Amino acid sequence: MGAHRILILGGTGEARRLAEHVATVSGFDARISLAGRTAEPRPLPLPTRIGGFGGAEGLARYLKEQAIDLMIDATHPFAARMSVNAAEASALTQTPLFALRRAAWQPVAGDRWTSVPDIDAAVTALGATPRSVFLAIGRQEAHRFAAAPEHSYLIRSVDPVDPPLAVPKAVYIRSAGPFTLETESALITEHAIEVIVTKNSGGDATVAKLDAARALGIEVIMVERRLPPEVPTVETVEAALAAIAHRFGVPDVGSMNRGV
Ligand code: NAP
Repeated sequence: MGAHRILILGGTGEARRLAEHVATVSGFDARISLAGRTAEPRPLPLPTRIGGFGGAEGLARYLKEQAIDLMIDATHPFAARMSVNAAEASALTQTPLFALRRAAWQPVAGDRWTSVPDIDAAVTALGATPRSVFLAIGRQEAHRFAAAPEHSYLIRSVDPVDPPLAVPKAVYIRSAGPFTLETESALITEHAIEVIVTKNSGGDATVAKLDAARALGIEVIMVERRLPPEVPTVETVEAALAAIAHRFGVPDVGSMNRGV
């Protein structure tokens, strides 16, 4: 029997870690796909395909052409379009699919969260009184806050916000994290931040801003996730490796998991 052919839909730290582990296990012929949003993505240890497939139909074609045995949707929890496409392409081609999607953050005692359903609602939730806003939602949707130019913005993103936001007061920081409670608290204090806007991405890499907000009593406007398509879902790389082993009846699950 030939190697098991796996497609990982990537763009997250979890997808990277999964790729690193799958690459070390024999018997798999895996590849990873990126949307191409990041200008200079760090190289991955698997053959990497960059760019869209052309909707669910395009992805379905690719799955057939490449004779993919298993697709893993390890895209970001806010990459809603791609997750829907993956579910549709899986149904069209009968290609097995599961999602690797980290759990959402939950508020704890001391948090001052205002939960909103989307970015436009986050803009509205800022209110009419000018405030000092830390925009930690990434680059792609930052421009939507041009609808509220009365506020001043500190905008953090991996790639530059280009063109810049059409507001009179904006400061830009480029950083990919991970961040710590100390550095996030210092940033909030230095820029006299009054409110943080973030997506409920979940995970450890960017959670420190929420810890800092809690410690400093700062409001957080939390953009919640849309309901994802109903596909089998795991929340950790360890569970994804176990699911792969289970699907293909790989005996050495323990060695796959070692060091995760
Ligand atoms: P999206 O809105 O769900 O997808 C838009 C289109 O981008 C898709 O229809 C698809 O094009 C293409 N695409 C998305 N992910 C892809 C992948 N892994 N491989 C190949 N094509 C992909 O996605 P998005 O929110 O723009 O996110 C783009 C990428 O950035 C994703 O890979 C995601 O994991 C990563 N990311 C997103 C966020 C976020 O907040 N949205 C944060 C961190 C990382 P076609 O229809 O042509 O196939």
